[in-house]
Amino acid sequence: MPVAVVVTHSDVLDGCGTPVGYRRHVRHRERPCRACCGANADATAVWRLYRDALVGREPAEALPTRHRHRLVAELHSDGLTDHEIAAHTRMTTYTAARIRAGLGLLPNRPSATSTRGVA
Ligand SMILES: [Zn+2]
Repeated sequence: MPVAVVVTHSDVLDGCGTPVGYRRHVRHRERPCRACCGANADATAVWRLYRDALVGREPAEALPTRHRHRLVAELHSDGLTDHEIAAHTRMTTYTAARIRAGLGLLPNRPSATSTRGVA
């Protein structure tokens, strides 16, 4: 007699080896597996780097590419110019402008209302 295998939505989308998988273990009061612990530790380390880069304590080059792009987008939304983003993240102005343009964002004009300023 065949055994019915029930694959739930969360088994497919929230597999082990991801931060989502780690949170699923915790939510189910299970001991997280090694793959999930590793993925959660990696995600936490990147989050800390991102937080430090956002306040100018770490250079943007310490971040994975997509987080570097997210950082530029966040600083841009705060009103920083390419030059200010470059100084804040320790990138070249060319790189800051290239990432900003690649995200489809128009350059900000210099103004006295920038919230973060140049570090
Ligand atoms: Zn797991």
